[in-house]
Amino acid sequence: MLVNKMKICLICNGLGELQEECPNCRKALADGGKLYDYFDDYSPYMEIDLEKLEDGDPASTKKETCVHLYYCVHCGYEEKKEIAYRKV
Ligand SMILES: [Zn+2]
Ligand SMILES: [Zn+2]
Repeated sequence: MLVNKMKICLICNGLGELQEECPNCRKALADGGKLYDYFDDYSPYMEIDLEKLEDGDPASTKKETCVHLYYCVHCGYEEKKEIAYRKV
């Protein structure tokens, strides 16, 4: 896997973890995974417009973030979290 000189999402790569709690229950949110899981992180074509279509935000393709979905198993609360890519 080519990770040198690339920016990666620490969470996708198992290098980090986000601790968030449900605003309703105060329980830890479960990691629902990356929202765009069907895109290959390491694809040279990752700058295509598909992601833009997915979240409806035209600016998002320019952001260097990875969007993860977190959810509460107790009340169903869901939250999208943008994880900034980090250079490796
Ligand atoms: Zn990620
Ligand atoms: Zn909850």
